[in-house]
Amino acid sequence: MLIDTHCHLDFSDFDSDRELVLKNAHVAGVESVIDVASSLEGSVRAVALARSYPQVYASVGVHPHDAKDCPDAAWQQIRSLVGEKKVVAVGEVGLDFYRNLSEPGIQIEIFRKFIALAMEVRLPLIVHSRLAQDQTLSILKEYPDIGSSGVVIHCFSGDIDFLKQCLDLGWFVSFTCNVTYKKADAIRQAVGFAPLDRMFLETDAPYLSPEGKRGTRNEPANLVELAGAVAKIKQVDYETVCAETTKNAKQFFKIG
Ligand SMILES: [Zn+2]
Ligand SMILES: [Zn+2]
Repeated sequence: MLIDTHCHLDFSDFDSDRELVLKNAHVAGVESVIDVASSLEGSVRAVALARSYPQVYASVGVHPHDAKDCPDAAWQQIRSLVGEKKVVAVGEVGLDFYRNLSEPGIQIEIFRKFIALAMEVRLPLIVHSRLAQDQTLSILKEYPDIGSSGVVIHCFSGDIDFLKQCLDLGWFVSFTCNVTYKKADAIRQAVGFAPLDRMFLETDAPYLSPEGKRGTRNEPANLVELAGAVAKIKQVDYETVCAETTKNAKQFFKIG
């Protein structure tokens, strides 16, 4: 059994068939999913989904793209959601200097607020970091205690040096179906380097469908393709990848 530790089932992409998507996931062997919020509205929707479906857990946070839309009122509302029973993490939050849809200064300010929140409520932090390795490291290093509640760098796409530093700090890394892409040698190298007991698997659905399905909507059932690719890279059984990554996710997010 697998756990999709990062997907966006609250997005409207799934409005017409969310139940079926969850059913397909179950049939494929994906026992639970974490619906990771990327905005205030998304946080409200993620919590609602977690209330409705036993296999769905939620995180609350504001994506760096949306950092500009996080006024004080929104912040207060997110704070009120964080104590919900099935909220297992704060995120996704972080820095995205690739698209810069919010000004870098605002991204940093909101990132810091969420780091402080995660520490206060002792929930793990799901970090989005794109073209921002150095800044992500230097900001998080200012909060040495953050490691004790847990940090995961999601959709890992950094270099080996960044990976080493993340692992040295006791953090986890999470890989997506982009591992299967023809040109993704650098990501496969990172999968090869990262120990199995420090990684999670995620789809980031609806984004990043695996090779062969690119251009279509991704969904949690496709996590099996990622698990297969990881097994091949690590030269271990498919079952070992499932058992290890599921164990990691259950401990880290305190699921089940
Ligand atoms: Zn992300
Ligand atoms: Zn995401």
